[in-house]
Amino acid sequence: MIENSASFQASVDFARGIFGEGFIPLHRPVFEGNEKQYLIDCIDSNFVSSVGARVTEFEQKIAAFTGAKYAIATVNGTAALHAALQLAGVSRGDEVITQALTFIATCNALSYTGAHAVFVDVDRDTLGMSADALRRFLESKVERRGGQAFNKATGRRIAACAPMHTFGLPCRIEEIVALCDDYGIPVIEDAAESLGSYVGGRHTGTFGRLATLSFNGNKVITTGGGGMIITDDEELAIRAKHLTTTAKIPHPYEFVHDMTGYNYRMPNLNAALGCAQMEELPKFLAIKAEVARRYAEFCEAQGIALAQARAGTVSNYWLNAIVLDSLKQRDAFLEYTNGRGVMTRPIWRLMTRLDMYKDCEHDGLENSRWLEDRVVNLPSSVPDGAMGKA
Ligand SMILES: *Cc1c(COP(=O)(O)O)cnc(C)c1O
Repeated sequence: MIENSASFQASVDFARGIFGEGFIPLHRPVFEGNEKQYLIDCIDSNFVSSVGARVTEFEQKIAAFTGAKYAIATVNGTAALHAALQLAGVSRGDEVITQALTFIATCNALSYTGAHAVFVDVDRDTLGMSADALRRFLESKVERRGGQAFNKATGRRIAACAPMHTFGLPCRIEEIVALCDDYGIPVIEDAAESLGSYVGGRHTGTFGRLATLSFNGNKVITTGGGGMIITDDEELAIRAKHLTTTAKIPHPYEFVHDMTGYNYRMPNLNAALGCAQMEELPKFLAIKAEVARRYAEFCEAQGIALAQARAGTVSNYWLNAIVLDSLKQRDAFLEYTNGRGVMTRPIWRLMTRLDMYKDCEHDGLENSRWLEDRVVNLPSSVPDGAMGKA
């Protein structure tokens, strides 16, 4: 992209062509199906809290959609990640390999367990964890002992690997899982952004031992706040439900809890919203794919690099992302578009630039730093009126 206001103005005009006049948010929720009806039914039933039929129904819908055998609904995606990491055996003093280019929740959740984050680089095409960077890290820094992996420098156990599918673009998860299998490291996929994204026809989040989803207000579907743990492992699924529902032993009236559990179960009200949103999800995905196709056409004509799903994968195109030429151009673009009512956002600051995680071990993060200076998200909602036409 040539750094002049003509090309910036073309981007603003293009966004207006898709999303219309007025302020254009980055991603807004759409409630044009049965959302209100299901919420009213839920209130009328009196079951508004964490016991209720909609929670189970929403879990079944997510399991059916993703192809995971089990789904356990939680209050948000961060809680789902926290529980999943604990279920995978992560505990105080362990290390968890993840990416520095992610939303803070990935890192916060592993910190809640008392584990230390170790950051490996991402790929420039997927914006997600690089299998090559992971291989280099494992081969040079990790030793295997008794079926487990240990960081040679710190002596700590590497208890999990948590890659993330950035903006819905599938990372090289099949290679990451194969590498981690070799080292006896369980993979927990942070699939918060990738509901509706596939690798070789298989839904993201079904490659690792466990995965987590988020239904925050800005995600592909929303329950207001909400999350989900998915897994094919029956024993883990049973423990996930137990851990997230205060670890209470079922009994007609006695309160017996056999461990320190969490009150992480999704309320029925939120699940009612989720059930209605699941009915709309196929339409959302088709419309978002069309928006992404139009962005691709525009970017091609303008000479702007657009992040696209790698070969053999399908993105849900949650948030479209362009890769600008420099930090200077990025800042000028952000200033120009936001100043004209078109909301755009830079990708997250690297975790290593935040106080809490600045001392964590990392591999240099060359691509992460390169992308941090250049990636900008563009408005990616389902446009007004599009549901009626789809
Ligand atoms: C949204 C998100 C989460 C979970 O967020 P919650 O707001 O707790 O539901 C986790 N990881 C990533 C990468 C996310 O984008």
